[in-house]
Amino acid sequence: MSTTTEVRPVTRFAPSPSGHLHVGGARTALFSWAFAKGRGGSFIIRIEDTDQKRSSDAASVGFLKDLEWLGIRWEEGPEYVAPDGSTVGGGPNGSYFQSERLEVYNRYCQKLIAEGKAYEAWDSAEELDALRKDAMSRKEAFRYRFRGEVSDAQRAQFIAEGRQPVVRFRTPQVAITINDEVLGDATLPAGEVDDFVIRKKDGFPTYHFAVVVDDELMGVTHVLRAQEHFTNTAKHMVLQDALGFRRPTYGHLSIIKNPDDSKMSKRDKDKVLRKAVKERGWTAPPAGTVSAEEWTKWITDDNVQLDLEGAIRMAEALKVTLPEINVDDFRRSGYLPEVLCNFLALNGWSPGHDIEKFDNEFLKQRFGLDRVMKTPAKFDRVKLLAFNTDAITGMAPVDFARRCLEHAKQFRPDYLAKLGEAKFALLMTACQERSKTLDDPFKSNAFLLAADASMPFVDDKNVRKALGIGAAPADGAKTGLDHLRAMRGILGGIGDWTQHAIEAAANAYAAEHAAGKIGSVAQPLRIGVSGSTVSPPIWDTLVLVGKASALMRIDRCIAWAESLA
Ligand code: GLU
Repeated sequence: MSTTTEVRPVTRFAPSPSGHLHVGGARTALFSWAFAKGRGGSFIIRIEDTDQKRSSDAASVGFLKDLEWLGIRWEEGPEYVAPDGSTVGGGPNGSYFQSERLEVYNRYCQKLIAEGKAYEAWDSAEELDALRKDAMSRKEAFRYRFRGEVSDAQRAQFIAEGRQPVVRFRTPQVAITINDEVLGDATLPAGEVDDFVIRKKDGFPTYHFAVVVDDELMGVTHVLRAQEHFTNTAKHMVLQDALGFRRPTYGHLSIIKNPDDSKMSKRDKDKVLRKAVKERGWTAPPAGTVSAEEWTKWITDDNVQLDLEGAIRMAEALKVTLPEINVDDFRRSGYLPEVLCNFLALNGWSPGHDIEKFDNEFLKQRFGLDRVMKTPAKFDRVKLLAFNTDAITGMAPVDFARRCLEHAKQFRPDYLAKLGEAKFALLMTACQERSKTLDDPFKSNAFLLAADASMPFVDDKNVRKALGIGAAPADGAKTGLDHLRAMRGILGGIGDWTQHAIEAAANAYAAEHAAGKIGSVAQPLRIGVSGSTVSPPIWDTLVLVGKASALMRIDRCIAWAESLA
C-alpha cells in the first residue's frame, strides 16, 4: 500500500485540447481536484498540446471555462479570468502549456541520449512498414528495437536525403509492474514494451515523454486518469527510472458508458440524427440547417460528424433531442453544475451509507481511491434529470430566476429581448414548478417567441377535444370553441391586463356559461394563445403574451378551428 495520506498531494488534470470537455474527462478532473483539495494539497491544470494538428487555443479555453463552471478551480495552470472577475491559475511551474516547454523536454531528451538511454532513429515510413510486415509474417507483434549504431557517414547521408530522426527510448528488457491504486497491480513481461518514440520528427515530445517530465517538474504525487492509459504507465515508469524521477501514485478510472453498454461518445449525437433522418425519409437538408455539401458528406459516411451548431440546427428541424455528451452540452441543456458534479462523482465512486446527494465540499472531504469502482459506470440520464429536478424544486425562487437569467443571457437571448425584464421575471415564477432544467422555461414555451400572424396550432386529439371539434356537445352545452369566441369579446374589453383582472372576468363568465368549470374556459384560451394544451398557468400566459397579441392569436385560432369543424 502506498502512503497516500502522509504527503500533501499534488494532482493534475492534463487534457489534450481538441474538441470539448467530455463528461468522462470532467469526472477525472473532479476526482483529481477532490483528492488533492481534501488533503490540503493542490490541483494543477496542464494543457497537453503537443499534437499540433489536433490542438487548438479555442479548445483550451473551452476546457478551462467548463472546469470553472463546474466549480473545479486550479491553484496552478493556465490563467483564466472567471465570470466573477477573479483570476484562476498561474503558478511557479509554468508554462502550463506543453507546446511552450519544448526546451525543457529537449534538455531531458539530450540527457538520455548522452547517457545512451535513448537514441536517434532514422527509419523512413517505408522501412518501418517493412519491419511491421516482417513481424506479421512471423505472426509476432511488431516491437521496435535498437537497430544498430548509425555511423557519421550514414547520418550525413540521411540528412542529405532530407530525413529527420525521431528519438527512441532504449527500453530495458525487464518485467515491469504497474502499481495502480484503483485497478490493482499488473506485470508486463520483459520485452513487452518496445523502444518507443520520445521525440517526434517535428521536434515535439511524445505524450509519454512530456507527461513524465512535467509530472516530475510540477511535483505531481498522484495521477488519476482514464483507464485507457493503464498500459502507458509501464512506459512512464521505465522513463522515470531512467531519468531518476520520483514515481507518482497512479489510479486509473474506468470509462463511463451508456446504459446499453456502448461508449458515451460524441458520435451518439449523429446516431440520433441519422436515425431520425431515416425515419422521416429525408433526402436533402432542410433549409437553414447544414449546407448540401456537408449533408452529402455526412449522410454517405457514418464516420463523419456534424459540427455542434449544425447538429443543433438539424435536431431542431427534426424535433429530436441530442444526447448530451460534453460538459457544454449539459450546460446548454440547463443542468446545474453542482448537480452534474454530484452525479458524475456517483459514476464511479460512492461515499457509502446510501448517501447520494452531496456537494463538491462533501466530495472533497470524503473522496478516496479506496471507494473508486473498477468497473465501468453506466450513465443514467433519467436519474440525472431527477437530481436536477429536485435541485430546481428546492431552489428559492429568486435563485431560480437569477440562474435562468444567466442561462438565457448565454443560450436564450431572444427570450430576454422579446420579454423584457418584468415579463421575464414572471415567466420564471410561472415555470419553476414544472421545470426540470434551467432551459425548460424556454424550451417548452417557444410560442412566446412566435409571430402572432404565423404561430401554428397543434392539431391533435387534446386540442380537438378541448375545442369540441368533431364531437357534438351534449344538449345545449357550449363547446370550447364557443367559450373561446365569447371570451374573445370579454378579453377585448379588459383595460387592466393583469392576471387578477383576467381571471376574475373568466370566472364570472364560467360561472354563468360553463357550470363554473373554469377548466373548460381556460383550456381553449390556452390553445388560442399558445397553440397547444400545454403552457404555464393560463393567466400568467395571457399576461406574458400581452393583450394585443393574445387577441390576434385567439382570432386566428377561432378561424383555424372553424376551418377544421
Ligand atoms: N493528455 C492526456 C489525455 O487527454 C492525459 C493523460 C494523463 O493524464 O496522463 O488523455
